[in-house]
Amino acid sequence: MNSSAEIKHLLARHGLAARKSLGQNFLTDSTVVARIVAAVDIKPQDVVVEIGPGIGVLTRALAAAGARVVAIEVDRGLAGLVAQELAYSNVQVEIADALETDLDALVRGLQEREQKYKVVGNLPYYVTSPLLLHLLQRQRNMTMAVVMVQQEVAARILSAPGSRTYGPLSVAVQFRSLPELVTTVSREAFWPQPKVDSAVVRLVVREQPAVEVPDEELFFQVVRGAFTQRRKTMANSLAAVPLGLSKDEARQALAQGGIPWEYRAENLSLAQWAALTWQLQRILSRPR
Ligand code: SAM
Repeated sequence: MNSSAEIKHLLARHGLAARKSLGQNFLTDSTVVARIVAAVDIKPQDVVVEIGPGIGVLTRALAAAGARVVAIEVDRGLAGLVAQELAYSNVQVEIADALETDLDALVRGLQEREQKYKVVGNLPYYVTSPLLLHLLQRQRNMTMAVVMVQQEVAARILSAPGSRTYGPLSVAVQFRSLPELVTTVSREAFWPQPKVDSAVVRLVVREQPAVEVPDEELFFQVVRGAFTQRRKTMANSLAAVPLGLSKDEARQALAQGGIPWEYRAENLSLAQWAALTWQLQRILSRPR
């Protein structure tokens, strides 16, 4: 495993330096790398898309475990470094912004057929939530994601109703996947050292969403909207969601969905969010 001195030396040899703006904190702890690779549970022929290979620490371990790795790096300099330093025929490096990349299409193009894949990444903090939503909501061939995120984000992903950290990210991730904590990771496992600790979570993508909803766009609009007023009761926070609902209609939807009106957004389970969406759709589709 690279020490911080070795990483600095390697970057300097390629005329590079760690870029804070791209969340470049490189893993220096081999135990953590081994835990991530074990969590990916690599089988022969598995395709693994790595987001942000950096200097290739995880990339090398994934390739050595037998995965066909497609590494997506936004930093041209680092992409060049990985391509030059890693002598594995089963690693392909793409220069691209993961937030803008259709992974289904990328993997299909490389494999010349529809192909399931797993995603792995020590994610830069600034892309974490949008990237997870992009992957879970739009990429149909992803079966699993093993990602390093800030500990506070891991808490939000894993939260159950009633918890202070339960919010739109918890609902969105749990709607599409079964999340679990793989391990917590001290900030000392990185160079440069970030200000907060991290955690690795594994999201096993569900074959079907956890609950049936009439319209996913409406479902997420209601969830996001209600959580923007998380201190208010649902009757009040629903009236504030830009759906043009009166307070009476909000109360009606809650009552018919079996949700106490005095509940707050943080109290609703996935099943209750779904029941509420069905009722709202019924109200919104009738002449008013
Ligand atoms: N995987 C390496 C490791 O664990 O040591 C590096 C992880 S570092 C936290 C994040 C990496 O993601 C950096 O290499 C950074 O350049 C890259 N990155 C940042 N934003 C990205 C984006 N939008 N798309 C692809 N890669 C990105």
